[in-house]
Amino acid sequence: MPKYFLLAVHSFPIASSLGSSLPQPRANGITRDLPPMFYHEQVISRSLHVPVLLVHGGAWAIPDDDAPAHEAGVRAALKAGFEILSAGGPALDAVQAAVAVLEDDPTFDAGRGSFLTSDGRVQLDALLMDGGRMKAGGVACVERIRNPIQAARLVLEQSPHVYFVGPGAEAFAASNGMTLIDNGELVLDRERRRLEIAQSRQAAGLADETFSGHIHRDDKSPETASPHLTADQLSHDTVGAVALDTHGNLAAGTSTGGTLNKTPGRVGDSSLIGCGCYADNLSAAVSLTGWGEPIMKLVLGKWATDRVAAGSTPEFAAREAISYLFNRLGGHGGIILLGPDGRFGIAHNTPAMAWGLATSAGLQTGLSI
Ligand code: ASP
Repeated sequence: MPKYFLLAVHSFPIASSLGSSLPQPRANGITRDLPPMFYHEQVISRSLHVPVLLVHGGAWAIPDDDAPAHEAGVRAALKAGFEILSAGGPALDAVQAAVAVLEDDPTFDAGRGSFLTSDGRVQLDALLMDGGRMKAGGVACVERIRNPIQAARLVLEQSPHVYFVGPGAEAFAASNGMTLIDNGELVLDRERRRLEIAQSRQAAGLADETFSGHIHRDDKSPETASPHLTADQLSHDTVGAVALDTHGNLAAGTSTGGTLNKTPGRVGDSSLIGCGCYADNLSAAVSLTGWGEPIMKLVLGKWATDRVAAGSTPEFAAREAISYLFNRLGGHGGIILLGPDGRFGIAHNTPAMAWGLATSAGLQTGLSI
């Protein structure tokens, strides 16, 4: 047995996915009817599907005072996205709309109100992926774009390329009609104070425990391990959404300001294909949140969707992915995972994760599962 399994101890119980407590949409076996490979055309099912939208607002130790704003933000995102799905609109539009609502809400670490880089700027990353057409668009390190998920959509639709960074991404967005703003419009005083606190903690040799909360001695990751134990003013509120539309198409989107006090130019998992975001009608749609470096090294989004393609339920694969993240690298984070049959999983090993679910049965939100 590999060593990392022997070392497995969770600092928090892996939260079970909602699948066990909520009715899951009926499985109708769409992917199983398809031939096994070589798709040159859009992969869609023949039958009508029951639409599903899942969103998250970041996995970390959400302070009680911030809880209502997180639930309200997630609910607003669900409403915007599900309105599109319930009218028969595309999963891609629903995901983009839901993520844009979360980017516009300064509660979250995406768009305005994001965490600051070590030199006091906002640098944003986002990815949008269409699991039917297998098209993706991503931007990273953009500083002058209010809604990076919209820029990601433009990359997806308008460019032969898949990913743009920095000034090149901004120029591409501007040439496709987006207004460029001053970076100062994205910066909040609240975040200036957070940065000051983070930098004084760093100067004192204290590590960021945002995702993990209280870190146990058996946490072996150099990225999260620390003997010191307070970080409750900090937050990590990356946002994401996954959707299934009535035509059977899946889509996923993730948007972030990254980690607090990051070095300018750093890119985390959120906008990297297969890491913090992925969608393929033949497997699943996924969005992750948490400390990006371990998630990237495990290519965890693709890892989870591959398990669904191999026959795992999204509920089980979501829990497995978060177990793997901790057991292999001591990482902390959360995941939303949606299969092509509408079954889903939500899991996290952080103290909390804002989440929301919209189906024809209504909207549900929570801060942990
Ligand atoms: N995953 C993000 C990053 O590392 C942070 C987060 O999810 O809050 O950039």
